[in-house]
Amino acid sequence: MSHILLLIDHQENGRLLAESLKKRHQVSLADSEEGLRQPFDLGVVDGTALNRFSKAIRSRKEAERPRFLPLILIVTRQEVRLFKRHLWESVDDLLICPIDKMELQVRVEVLLRAREFSSELKLRNDDLEAYSQALMHDLRAPVRAIGSFSKLLIDEQKEKLDDRGKRHLERIRAVAEQAWDLIDSLLAFSRLGRKEIVLRTTPLPAMMATCLRNLREEIEAAKAEVIVPANLPSVRADPALLMMALTNLLSNAIKYVAPGTRPQVVLSVSTTARRSRIQIEDNGIGISPEDRERIFAPFVRLHGVEEYPGIGLGLSTVRKVVELMGGRTGFESSKGKGSRFWIELEAAETKERQEKI
Ligand code: ADP
Repeated sequence: MSHILLLIDHQENGRLLAESLKKRHQVSLADSEEGLRQPFDLGVVDGTALNRFSKAIRSRKEAERPRFLPLILIVTRQEVRLFKRHLWESVDDLLICPIDKMELQVRVEVLLRAREFSSELKLRNDDLEAYSQALMHDLRAPVRAIGSFSKLLIDEQKEKLDDRGKRHLERIRAVAEQAWDLIDSLLAFSRLGRKEIVLRTTPLPAMMATCLRNLREEIEAAKAEVIVPANLPSVRADPALLMMALTNLLSNAIKYVAPGTRPQVVLSVSTTARRSRIQIEDNGIGISPEDRERIFAPFVRLHGVEEYPGIGLGLSTVRKVVELMGGRTGFESSKGKGSRFWIELEAAETKERQEKI
């Protein structure tokens, strides 16, 4: 039996709603934020209660994600026009007074079914995640052992081995190291988005300075030139996630150049009223139109590891973290002529914007 929570300020309406819904569901009434903390599968709210509890309702819905916690708003025709935009964000369906009992019943059933589907999906997802986590954890120990024992053999028994034997062992050690990196990256990828995402005003100059510091070895090894303009703006982002996205894009821009070419990478930012687009342009090998979408999928690589090292999780990480921050990502490129990757995020509120609002 599903549990319906009524947040109805109008007492008579609350009583009538409870009476009609009670026949098929468990119904309880709440008139405080405390009441919103109890478990429920669907909320029914009227205009004044939504006004009072909008923040608590939003955070309750957020806490349930990826499960869907539906909310029906009950209002009079006059009230609808008075609602501000932010109040609609937590509403999934609307019923205008006077309410038709049959219509109420149908809407409730449809939304409860959606809730049920999302719960099932979450359960399956959780199972799959637990399974892959366990698998990866269990694989770490043997892979590490293969790597360390082959290194021991190379170090301690090298006199007893001929060149062929040494080469075979060296290969085993290198492959074990690759497998170890792969497991590590997979674990990190599957953990993305599990921590709470906190969007805050993030100044790009400091962020870029840290990214370049982290990539110093790669930049020096490739003798890359990275041009970062002065006066970069701030964006609304989760700093740790943005750092991941920028580091991956910069690292690719340095890596995917033709042999013998000195990488030249140019960063630029364009900002409109609401969005900031960070662009990273390179003079690399470019990407063919037919590979456009697939390069964002996990483990898709267009080159062998011998040609360009990597495991194919860079761009999927970029897309995932940018989407977690409510942004978009994409690129323009022509084969052999370089690429321009971009990520688009909400612009940080400048003083002028705040004044306009
Ligand atoms: P990896 O982590 O192995 O570098 P990515 O997911 O970052 O993999 O990238 C997937 C594929 O997209 C790469 O194998 C490469 O072919 C292509 N790619 C990514 N960035 C660029 C770039 N800046 N220029 C050309 N090709 C790129």
